[in-house]
Amino acid sequence: MARINENYLKLKAGYLFPEIGRRVGAFQKANPDATVIKLGIGDVTEPLVPAIIEAFRAGVEEMSTKQGFHGYGPEQGYGFLLDLIREKDYEARGVKVENDEIFVSDGSKCDSGNIQEIFGLDNVVALADPVYPVYLDTNVMAGRTGEVDAAGHYAGIVYMPAVAENAFNPEPPEGHVDLIYLCSPNNPTGTVSTKEQLARWVEYAKKNDAVILFDAAYEGFISDPSLPRSIYEVEGARDVAIEFRSFSKSAGFTGTRCAFTVVPKTVMGKTASGDEVSLNSLWNRRHTTKFNGVSFPVQKAAAAAYSPEGRRQTGEIVKFYMENARLIREGLSATGLEVFGGENAPYIWFRTPARMGSWDFFDQLLQKTQVVGTPGSGFGPSGEGYFRLSAFNSRENVEEALSRITKASW
Ligand SMILES: *Cc1c(COP(=O)(O)O)cnc(C)c1O
Repeated sequence: MARINENYLKLKAGYLFPEIGRRVGAFQKANPDATVIKLGIGDVTEPLVPAIIEAFRAGVEEMSTKQGFHGYGPEQGYGFLLDLIREKDYEARGVKVENDEIFVSDGSKCDSGNIQEIFGLDNVVALADPVYPVYLDTNVMAGRTGEVDAAGHYAGIVYMPAVAENAFNPEPPEGHVDLIYLCSPNNPTGTVSTKEQLARWVEYAKKNDAVILFDAAYEGFISDPSLPRSIYEVEGARDVAIEFRSFSKSAGFTGTRCAFTVVPKTVMGKTASGDEVSLNSLWNRRHTTKFNGVSFPVQKAAAAAYSPEGRRQTGEIVKFYMENARLIREGLSATGLEVFGGENAPYIWFRTPARMGSWDFFDQLLQKTQVVGTPGSGFGPSGEGYFRLSAFNSRENVEEALSRITKASW
């Protein structure tokens, strides 16, 4: 029999969302007439906007003609999309990025999960706690950790608690780490790092020869103009940071699939003998070996997100979700809950009432209001006692959920 990769056995059984699905399924079976409102999983609910659909359709039509047919495209993405990303996402904000530093892909989940492959197994990884589970689990699978302890910490990982006491913005660690995952605007806490906070990370990375893996999947939800949308807005970040971006949340591409990763040619790693190697060339090698490009119509659709109509239309939808976020934030606050996030991110993070455990509150919320959220402890031990609601839903459902929550007592 083939030997398995036993690192997979270290993963905690029952990933968060299947467990939520199991509990909701059991509740619905026992209460077939209840109308359950799901504010749990971070998936968009509004359809693709007309400008994007039009370009998507035109892309499909082109594929049906002899002259317009496209087979394999460049693995890194078509030039028309790379140009737009470079100009509109970066140059427009005073950031210099070159086309061959951008890698278009089918998702930031894959990219932020796969990036660890180009790094040695002996690197020390630092993660926020709570965290987007992909960063942790992919490092566990690769064998970069030991076993998990009773509290839920994997041996070898440097956990950086992100809690109310530090406003969910952990400072760089005292000791040395090699790889740092940062996510801003943050999933799950809904908080955003300032330029000064990111600058301290860049400074730390420079001092420690560390690499920052910066997930900006939610940058499109930032409305405060003083907040950075890219880590490259911080001076020196081009020497130490890789950035992940996605069309999933800001342009509604969760089911369409398009994202990109920026690996500046100035970010270096080193060999065991101390020779410097460009991470851009390693990622290019990985990407072209294991990936064959995003489909032509999908890249056409993604490009349309940058047209004036595309911008305006996707902007309207982001505004719609952020109005949901405001309603949830203010509605929960009015019931006396301690609420965070939801101002420049589509997630609202709050302390459970009466210091209830996250899963206890999940069950009570489901029983009393038929509203489904996400237990904070599912994102890491320091998420215990917190809870996440997402702003991705119809206005009607958000208002109904709030009205039920307001009437409930805990
Ligand atoms: C949704 C999300 C992404 C985007 O994932 P895709 O694979 O591009 O859909 C990336 N990072 C975080 C933290 C997310 O929540």
